[in-house]
Amino acid sequence: MDNLSQRADGLAEISRSPSGSVFNVQGYSIHDGPGIRTTVFLKGCPLTCLWCQNPEAMAKQPQVFFDSDKCRGCGQCVAACPERAIEIVAGKARTDRQLCVDHGLCAAVCPSGARSVMGREATADDIFEEIEADAIFYKHSGGGVTISGGEPLAQPKFTEYLLKRCKEAGFHTAIDTSGFAKWSVVEPVMKYVDLVLYDFKHMNPLEHARLTGVSNELILDNAKKIHHQLAIPMLARVPLIPGYNDTPENIADTAKFIAGELSTSIRVHLIPYHPFGEAKYERLEVRGRFFSSHTPSGARVAEISDIFRGYGLAVTIGG
Ligand code: SF4
Ligand code: SF4
Repeated sequence: MDNLSQRADGLAEISRSPSGSVFNVQGYSIHDGPGIRTTVFLKGCPLTCLWCQNPEAMAKQPQVFFDSDKCRGCGQCVAACPERAIEIVAGKARTDRQLCVDHGLCAAVCPSGARSVMGREATADDIFEEIEADAIFYKHSGGGVTISGGEPLAQPKFTEYLLKRCKEAGFHTAIDTSGFAKWSVVEPVMKYVDLVLYDFKHMNPLEHARLTGVSNELILDNAKKIHHQLAIPMLARVPLIPGYNDTPENIADTAKFIAGELSTSIRVHLIPYHPFGEAKYERLEVRGRFFSSHTPSGARVAEISDIFRGYGLAVTIGG
């Protein structure tokens, strides 16, 4: 191939709409940045937070959800499964997730909707078309588009392309991220980001690794670079998980880092744990999960808010 053809191939590669793994495009979203937004939830995350409320977002590939209440025990899924992963036990389908490869043939034949496929492959152009349909709401509410997950930085080409198209269309853009990616991955994506929603889960690297599967060193380093080098507005999201990250020491360390290493101009959003996502673990038939927490009381959330305010930070509960 001559140089000219190689260059043409390279340009085609850059302008081609990448495919990504998406599990939801949620319109009329009001908790993921200013105004009315469309939030695009991507599948796939390098973290395994024990309290994750979106377990359907952890794996990159589409997955089969099973709602036992809807199952009639008809056995059609058993016949459709080439992996012999399903059997009927006590009148209900039971799937061996070690054998299942999630291609969804069972969901296609299930007459009751007990089985469904969570997630789909789509091009960034296709997703942009869905986003664009709600443009009128962004304009009148000061809203825009948020890419969330899963982890948007785990699909950087898709995320970068989609954000670029949103910026070209004049939409406000936000990314909701754990920040766990190499800087060489983070920086190109941030070119098209107006607001970063950044998660702070635990300040101790060993505890962070125990609770999420990865250390926090890269995450904290990236937070500093995004704030100081790129100067992109940031909002700090702190999940409050009683028994896991709500000790006075960890709350004070989190506040100290945001106020001292970043800036007191960063608003802190405290996200109290709520068990609304627990049923999803049953639908994914995840067994042997060891996690137990509860929603913190209003008084406890108020105490924690006061610790952050004591470091000069503005606090919002939720969002
Ligand atoms: S998704 Fe899993 S259970 Fe369903 S047909 Fe495929 S292998 Fe079988
Ligand atoms: S096809 Fe659907 S309703 Fe029938 S046994 Fe399988 S999951 Fe249950």
